Amino acid sequence: MDEVRSAASGTSTDGSDTTAKGADAAAAPEEAAGLTAREVSKSFTLGGRELPVLRGVSFRLQAAETLAVVGPSGSGKSTLLHVLGTLERPTAGTVTLAGSDLYSLPEGALARLRNERIGFVFQDHYLLPQYSLLENVLMPALAFRRERAGARQRAAELLARVGLADRLGHRPAELSGGERQRAAIARALLNRPALLLCDEPTGSLDHATAAAATDLLFELQRQEGAMLIVATHSRELAARCARRLQLRDGQCFEA
Ligand code: ADP
Ligand code: MG
Repeated sequence: MDEVRSAASGTSTDGSDTTAKGADAAAAPEEAAGLTAREVSKSFTLGGRELPVLRGVSFRLQAAETLAVVGPSGSGKSTLLHVLGTLERPTAGTVTLAGSDLYSLPEGALARLRNERIGFVFQDHYLLPQYSLLENVLMPALAFRRERAGARQRAAELLARVGLADRLGHRPAELSGGERQRAAIARALLNRPALLLCDEPTGSLDHATAAAATDLLFELQRQEGAMLIVATHSRELAARCARRLQLRDGQCFEA
């Protein structure tokens, strides 16, 4: 949960406040705005034994492209999203986002980049119960202690775009599951991220509510021009993405 909360707010665990300046001026032009994973591997050590989950995953995504990550439960979809989203360091390999080699950045710069360039939507909304919807959506702009100019207006505008204009002062408990997930989508987009990562975003919703949330997700993604990566079991959701990446035995295959 700490990991998720810091993902939502973008703060680093050490509270440091360093500017992300990892942009590599020498990056190829097609990489400058996109995402590149090169030979990404991730293993966990459990009871002294090594469990390899990702074994050399490579792919490239262009600006504003959409990609579904599919595969059976336990195939490493969430692990891949965590590594792409800087929540979990890979055992080997590199991830480059908009020209920055993420895991070569110092921790503070990485936290700032996570806050400014990456939005997360999880299966659970992780809205903070004691805060209003407006405050929750504003949360990513409050990281690093200063509220960014125009952020409050942007939060209200995003909540209007997800159909919650008249709920700004409501607490999460006063909303339905679908409404909470729409607020989580608004929160993820607050800082205009280059990359939106969604892990089973409709996994807790009934079919009709999931379909409405999916429509909204793709509409906002198009309007905002963010890259979108969705890990999902849902064939319908996967079919909405321009590309599909299948995970099997720790490797990926473009379907
Ligand atoms: P998926 O999202 O496709 O269901 P996950 O990425 O959650 O798959 O998990 C892939 C494998 O990695 C599973 O075997 C899971 O138990 C293991 N795993 C995930 N996170 C951890 C962790 N923090 N520690 C140990 N094992 C983990
Ligand atoms: Mg998962």
